[in-house]
Parts: sequence; C-alpha cells; structure tokens
Amino acid sequence: MIDLRSDTCSQPTEEMRRAIASAVVGDDVYSDDPTVKELEREVSDLLGKEDAVYMVTGTMTNQVGIRAHTEPGDAVMFDQNAHVYILEGGAPAAFSGVLPRLLPGVRGVFTPEDVSSALGVPHRFFPSTIPAPVKLLCLENTHNIGGGKVWPLQQLKAVCDVARARGIALHLDGARLWHATAATGIPEREYAKHFDTVSVCFSKGLGAPIGSALAGSREFIERARRFKQQIGGGFRQAGIIAAGALYAMRNNRDRLKEDHEHAKLLAKGIAGLPGISLDVATVETNIVRFGVTSLPAGEFVEKLYAKGLYVLPSGADAVRAIPYLNISRKQVEEAIDIIASVAEEHAGSAKGAAYAVGASAGAGY
Ligand SMILES: *Cc1c(COP(=O)(O)O)cnc(C)c1O
Repeated sequence: MIDLRSDTCSQPTEEMRRAIASAVVGDDVYSDDPTVKELEREVSDLLGKEDAVYMVTGTMTNQVGIRAHTEPGDAVMFDQNAHVYILEGGAPAAFSGVLPRLLPGVRGVFTPEDVSSALGVPHRFFPSTIPAPVKLLCLENTHNIGGGKVWPLQQLKAVCDVARARGIALHLDGARLWHATAATGIPEREYAKHFDTVSVCFSKGLGAPIGSALAGSREFIERARRFKQQIGGGFRQAGIIAAGALYAMRNNRDRLKEDHEHAKLLAKGIAGLPGISLDVATVETNIVRFGVTSLPAGEFVEKLYAKGLYVLPSGADAVRAIPYLNISRKQVEEAIDIIASVAEEHAGSAKGAAYAVGASAGAGY
C-alpha cells in the first residue's frame, strides 16, 4: 500500500530511532528534561524568539497560544479555512471561549483590506463595549486546506502591519512553515518576526513521531506553560520524543525539497487525465489537492485503495495526496499509474468541471 494520506503517516528512520533510544531525560513538569530544554532553545533560536515550549501536538500549541492571547468572550480573526478554526475539534470555542471573525482568504491568503474591513472603523459615537473585542489574528503558512499554499512575504507583512497598528496580537500557525522556507529559501525567522507567537510541527514533513513547539516572548511562554498544564499537557520524560523532534529539525528540513519535487511530479503526472481537475501551478509544496469530476471523491478514493493507493477525499469532489520522507520517487510513479488507471476506467463519466483549491469556505480537508 502506498500511503499518501498525510505526511503525519511518516515513520521514524533508523537514525532517528537511535537518537530517541539514547535520549537523556528528566521530569519535564519540573523543568528537568535536558533534551526538551535543548529542543526548546534550538527552536526558539531558529525562529528568532526568546523562548519556546514543547507540546504533544500542533493543535495543542495553537490552542494554548490562542488561550494565552485572549480571555473568554474575545474575538479572534481566522481565515475561513484555517486549520485552527476547522480542524482542531472546536477548541477555540471550547477551550478559549473565543468568537471567530472569519476572513475571506483564497487558498488561505487574505488581504490587508480584508483585515481592516473586518475590524471596522471605530468612532466615539459608537461604544466600543458593544462588539466582542478582536484580540488576535491567526495566519497559516503554508496553508493546509489551501493545498500547501505559501504566503507571499510582502502580503504577509502588509496584513500583519494592519493588525499591529490596531493593537491586535499575531499568531502564526507554522505547522508547515518549514515547507515555506524549503520552497522559497526565505528563513523561518523572516516569516516569524512579524508575529508575537509561532507554532511549528515536527511530526509532519519533518518526520518526527510526536510533537510541536510554541515560540514567543519569555513572558508569553511562561503564561502558555500554565495553559499547557491546565489541559493535561504536562508530560514527564518527554525527552524521549523531543529527541526525535530535535533530530528532525536538525536533519530533515533541507530534504523537504525532495517531497516538493515528488508532489510536483505527481501533479504533472495526473493533471491531464480524464475527470481530473488540477492546475499544476497550485502545487507549491508537498500537498497535492485535485478535483475529481467523474465520480464522487469518496468513491474515487475507494477505487484507488483497492489498487494499492491510500489517499483522502477532500470534500465532495476533491482528493488530497501528500508525499513525505518514506515515499520514494518510484512509489510516486506507481501512484500516478494507479490514479491513471482509475481515471481512465471512468473517463466516460467525466464532466470536466473546474475545481479551485480552497477557494471557498469549508472547501474540504
Ligand atoms: C497538522 C497541522 C496542525 C496541527 O496538527 P496536529 O495533528 O494537532 O499535530 C496545525 N496546523 C496546520 C496547518 C497543520 O497542517
């Protein structure tokens, strides 16, 4: 089975397993785990922040970040397809009690005007106590539902400037920030410097089994540690898993380019097939999302599965495939052949409708 469901399906390599097996550990809740400390120091340096805190998931780092930036009843601005809003179990409502203010991003990218129009124009005749105060803007780079879209740096800065001028804090969901850097050559810290806090994942393309980090100012991270503990995120000899994350961050960032090439290879290989709608130019990193017009996406992926390719339906009429470090070029070529054989079997029912990745709200995931 060629498993392209997600880069979270990656397996730790032999060398990473050795690093994990020999990790020096302590009780992290007592701040005693040297491997966790080393990881936190290294990731905060890489992102240009004062401090960082290691947690089990990207959901936890994002949601602890949101909680630490807000109080219940505050409003938070998200792109309409943001991972923090759509794919994190309703945590902004349940854990932070915040109100979402959605921005009309296209593939996750919105404009400075979107931000300013959502914020409105304050006036002394209208009491500021009436609307929920917007305290935070979240931005996602690269954008998951947007098909691994990289934010143009200038636009990212312009959006952040608008929020900053209105006194709004900024959080970057950088679970996939490594991919933006691998694709553009712009260092992670050049993206990160526009934000108060940044969340990064080690368990996606980087190939570590577990973990994410939240980076920010020393004071903010101290506050975040309290909320991490509150949701049961205090883990003891966490150096066991932090060793894998550390290994991943040190060794696997550069090789992401290879996954990006594999994604492009896959996209090019299937773009012209009957009943497949895909603009190859939308594949900027490791995520391939394509439209299926011959069959419902759910049926299409079942047929691929029967032939040995495991991918996810993404909404009613689209499919997602993600290569990662255990996936070889040969397997990508086999995946193309499998998709081609299913597409050709159903060529007669191809309706040829166009599909635009992540263009509307709830675009599928
Ligand atoms: C995967 C991902 C997360 C968090 O993932 P976990 O599965 O909770 O570790 C957050 N944001 C984005 C953009 C992601 O791709």
